[in-house]
Amino acid sequence: MRIAVASFSHETCTLCPRPTTVDDFERGGVYHGEEVLDRVRGIPTYMNGFIKAAEEESDVELVGVLSAAKSWGGSSGSWLTQECFDKYSLGIEEALKKAGKLDGLLLALHGGMAATGVPRPEAEIVRRARRAVGDIPIFVTFDMHGNEDQEIVDAADGVFSIKTFPHIDSEETGLAAAKCLFETVRGDFKPTMALRKPGVISPGVFQHTGSHPMKDIIARAKEWEEKEPTARWVSSMPGFPYADVPDAGFTVIVLTNDDQELAERIADDMTDLVWSLRVPLASRKLPKPKEGVEKVLKLVAKGKTPVIIADHSDRTGDGTHVLEQLLKQGAKNFGISTIKDPKAVLEVMDEAEVGDTVTVKVGGYEYLSGNPLELTGRVEFLGDGDYIKAGPMGKGSMTLLGPTAVLDLGDNNHVVISSTLHQVTDHAGFTAFGIDFDSLEIMSLKSRVHFRAFYETVAGSIVEIDSPGLGIADLTTIDYKNVPKDIYPFVEERPG
Ligand SMILES: [Zn+2]
Repeated sequence: MRIAVASFSHETCTLCPRPTTVDDFERGGVYHGEEVLDRVRGIPTYMNGFIKAAEEESDVELVGVLSAAKSWGGSSGSWLTQECFDKYSLGIEEALKKAGKLDGLLLALHGGMAATGVPRPEAEIVRRARRAVGDIPIFVTFDMHGNEDQEIVDAADGVFSIKTFPHIDSEETGLAAAKCLFETVRGDFKPTMALRKPGVISPGVFQHTGSHPMKDIIARAKEWEEKEPTARWVSSMPGFPYADVPDAGFTVIVLTNDDQELAERIADDMTDLVWSLRVPLASRKLPKPKEGVEKVLKLVAKGKTPVIIADHSDRTGDGTHVLEQLLKQGAKNFGISTIKDPKAVLEVMDEAEVGDTVTVKVGGYEYLSGNPLELTGRVEFLGDGDYIKAGPMGKGSMTLLGPTAVLDLGDNNHVVISSTLHQVTDHAGFTAFGIDFDSLEIMSLKSRVHFRAFYETVAGSIVEIDSPGLGIADLTTIDYKNVPKDIYPFVEERPG
């Protein structure tokens, strides 16, 4: 059995200012042929799950095709240019044509991609791949932040989305998808799917699967999978609301073995459940920076340290709201990782060396990102900021920060200034720069939920702060052009 493997993945913040280009993906790493598999071996990814599933079989050969799974700036990138979308989707098609006889195709996609001129990019990727491979089973894996609709179910044979946020089950999901594909090729599984859009759009910060309401939704999905022998996978994707696309909002996709009736019944049940949980999914209230930092300092005074701040709304990386409040309110022993400001990094590099004291204006470039802040501090790190992740999120994979400067502002306060948006998910986001992790009482991260996989094991307390930003929690404040407005929280009535 010869199974082709490809990946083309992006979570696109269309509210962000800078388009995502071929250069961004090339900088992140695009691989062809055998390298596609070699590059991910041992790193917990969907594709490593494909590899593990194949290793359990004696008759499965995986054929690496093309992987464009990482881009410079990641989710701070806006609409993929048409050139970029075509290069990798047509690249997959072309490589598949040359791959020889194939029995199946595994595509590791994201679901949250937005591409100029392509309303449903993932379905289009599958359709283009289909042109090359014809009528063989195509199975797709998705991040939980996928925005999808009926087109993906029409295009692909099987859909598997992850069930955790923080995303710690990519490999497990890839493994399940690959096994099911092998069964399908052998004729032991006949995929039948049902899709629903429950009519709810929700911000990432409310989608933690370790707590209500996503915990309940995932528990119900797993209950169906365990209870019904023909139910294979219940994908419950709360979606990515900062991509202004027509299929945004919660998506349920149920995969069964030759049982359309059951797929429809489970999809209806999941839809009812999601709708019943629309308020906690979309309408919680979070503190703004001033009251948020006041809360943080009270927790420090009570000894509930380290206090971890989830500065969740910054999608461009240059937001300064939390830093401004920490300085104003006289916080000590804090670390911020990171504030994006490539210009400030270059200025520091021009003027100073490690150990020197500099004054530099940092951040606050974009609409809603806050004020640029003039910082004076001793340079404690200067150079390439890329480091290897050490925590449960993507352990062993390389981050992309680019040129980076770290300033010690005194009072054991530290600010990491990176060249791109970076979401810190483990201690290496501080220790890689020589910051004494254990000495910090406050750590502020540009993360919504992913940080929890590691930080919940060390945190004295966690405070989510809703700074003004392009990824704000209250979605009714966003001027959407393409997201349907007949869904919650824009309207109270259930869509028909
Ligand atoms: Zn995600």
